[in-house]
Amino acid sequence: MIKLSHIEKTYEGSSGPVMALKGIDLEIKRGEIYGIIGLSGAGKSTLIRCINMLEKPTAGKVIVDGQDLTAMNDSQLRAARKNIGMIFQHFNLLSSATVYENIAFPLKLGGCSKEAIEKKVQPLLQLVGLNDKQHQYPAQLSGGQKQRVGIARALASDPKVLLCDEATSALDPQTTKAILELIKDINQKLQLTVVVITHEMQVIKEICDKVAVIEHGVIAEKGTVLEVFTNP
Ligand code: ADP
Ligand code: ADP
Repeated sequence: MIKLSHIEKTYEGSSGPVMALKGIDLEIKRGEIYGIIGLSGAGKSTLIRCINMLEKPTAGKVIVDGQDLTAMNDSQLRAARKNIGMIFQHFNLLSSATVYENIAFPLKLGGCSKEAIEKKVQPLLQLVGLNDKQHQYPAQLSGGQKQRVGIARALASDPKVLLCDEATSALDPQTTKAILELIKDINQKLQLTVVVITHEMQVIKEICDKVAVIEHGVIAEKGTVLEVFTNP
């Protein structure tokens, strides 16, 4: 489903170039929940942002669902990105929009009719368990509820891939568990491929099938969670 080949990313930092990714190869199969773990500064954010080309790799190829994103122009990329939902550590919700409007936002941008939007948003509210909150604003919600909105919004365009960028790092352990269960549930119900980046081992153990450990822009180790985290 996702194939990264020899991905490199160099930033032009103020004190010279910073090579954040130094040749990453990774293959993620359809329906897998794949974790990427590493310390702060290891390159996790850069890597996950290369999967939807929010960051353009300096070298290498990004293939998602058979399409080479690194060979596309901007309008082709916009279309291909509908296939890739993303959720964030700080949720990135529109504070002046209601729960319903936040979820509807990508559909509205995509030019959907009011009726089509309504038909799409109601089942998503149901899926994430927020039916009774649809007229509330983000400031009236708990962190876990905000992330549920983020998840519903990410799913609005029927993506095949969900990218989770430290999606539970701002949540308490109990809420983290509930959000991870929801992600797992969605993965199974929708046959969604999920990529999770985190600095927390517990998140990986809780839901991931496979894991890659990233250190200073290279993959130090990868395999099933059992293989990587069981000491011989
Ligand atoms: P992580 O998500 O694992 O904390 P990042 O991908 O954010 O790691 O960062 C990897 C490295 O790239 C770090 O050294 C960071 O300082 C650097 N970096 C990230 N973004 C930029 C940027 N926009 N400009 C310059 N350096 C950056
Ligand atoms: P997170 O780890 O939650 O993604 P960061 O604080 O690492 O947040 O990064 C926030 C933003 O700043 C990102 O867009 C990242 O690319 C950018 N960034 C990170 N490190 C640097 C850096 N050394 N120089 C410039 N921008 C950076």
